[in-house]
Amino acid sequence: MVRVSLRNPDRVEQVEGPLTVGELLDRLDLNPTTVLVIHDAGLVTADHELHADAEVEIRPVISGGAGGPRCAVCRGAAVIEEPRHRAAWCPAHFVDHVQNQVRKAIDHPQASRARERMFSYADRLLVAVSGGKDSLALWDILLELGYRVDGLYIGLGIGGYSRRSQRICEDFAAARGARLHVVDLGEAYGYTTPSGASSTTRSACGVCGLSKRYVFNKVAVDHGYDAVVTGHNLDDEAATLLGNLLRWHDDFLARQRPVLPASGTNQVRKCKPLYRLSEREMAAYCVVRGIDYVVEECPLVDGNTGQEHKEMLNALERTAPGAKAQFLFGFLDRHDRFAEEARDDGTPIGACDRCGMPTSGETCAFCRQRERILTALPVLAGAGAAPTAARAPAAGTAPTAAAAAAAGTDQSSG
Ligand code: AMP
Ligand code: ZN
Ligand code: ZN
Repeated sequence: MVRVSLRNPDRVEQVEGPLTVGELLDRLDLNPTTVLVIHDAGLVTADHELHADAEVEIRPVISGGAGGPRCAVCRGAAVIEEPRHRAAWCPAHFVDHVQNQVRKAIDHPQASRARERMFSYADRLLVAVSGGKDSLALWDILLELGYRVDGLYIGLGIGGYSRRSQRICEDFAAARGARLHVVDLGEAYGYTTPSGASSTTRSACGVCGLSKRYVFNKVAVDHGYDAVVTGHNLDDEAATLLGNLLRWHDDFLARQRPVLPASGTNQVRKCKPLYRLSEREMAAYCVVRGIDYVVEECPLVDGNTGQEHKEMLNALERTAPGAKAQFLFGFLDRHDRFAEEARDDGTPIGACDRCGMPTSGETCAFCRQRERILTALPVLAGAGAAPTAARAPAAGTAPTAAAAAAAGTDQSSG
């Protein structure tokens, strides 16, 4: 083995020899123009042959700081750069940066108003975890910051993708001794995302989004949590904003906030503490913290317009770093203008006649969707497939609800 000492940070790599210096640099993914290679106390060039147990040193030579960007805090070697912040960080200070952004989101300027308050250390939080990078990183951050936070995973029945996601959430919880609630949509409500989508005219994302929002709230209400927390990040929120603006969905714009307050019984507020952090930052956080997450995307997400809006914003961000954040934060800063639109539409909020959860109609959107699905399902599944409605849990708690935004009327960001 060729023994290679590297600097900034100091480390040793073993590489199979013999090989040339050029091959070695290739193997280590190093740019030959940014390093010096030292063998037997002398400088060597790319064509130099290294025998199988040679010892070499590779020294970075970029002036103004050896080998690339420096950490904005400690000047050590940086592992991630964020053009938006015109900064780079070493692993430890990157973790601080991410946690500080979450802190800032929790204590955002409007947090003094009751409606805009996220949560405090006195609150019991329920974080909805999908097994993806955002929500698991969020759970990790909230635990690290010392909040009382349990997890909720919803099994949507999307084949191997759902099984792998559930395992990852369970392993995450077990490793930290944290509590994870698991609700299987099929077992609890008699349909899955794919079977539900195939038996209605709604898209898979539509069926799934409504089901998830309902279950988030239901579990939180049933177990007495003070707030539901989701992993929506800067990219998610900016893409949702673009979509809402392109279609001038005034009512959705009015409710697109980092906090969706609960204004009645049987509803808990929803918070998005990652709205200041990008997708890339969240992925990097997971890598740095060693958090295992499901890298694959949901197989049903294809053609979802949210994806297209993300790509458009990324194209913009490439030429104008910070554009995405300016777009979203600028909107949030002047949100009052949009909130006027929805302030008082006069619709009374009552309790769903089936499940007791809040609704502006007689039956909530979730129960109506579920009924349509369960009516259609046995037909699609062929003779003999009895509807699983009978296995559904009994209708919910006492119908005393009055809430501003009933489940199912939330905007499209899932
Ligand atoms: P998505 O709608 O897939 O972009 O997810 C948005 C947020 O919803 C995630 O960051 C999670 O907080 C939550 N979430 C998504 N899927 C699930 C799931 N299967 N179980 C629990 N929470 C989920
Ligand atoms: Zn540092
Ligand atoms: Zn209902």
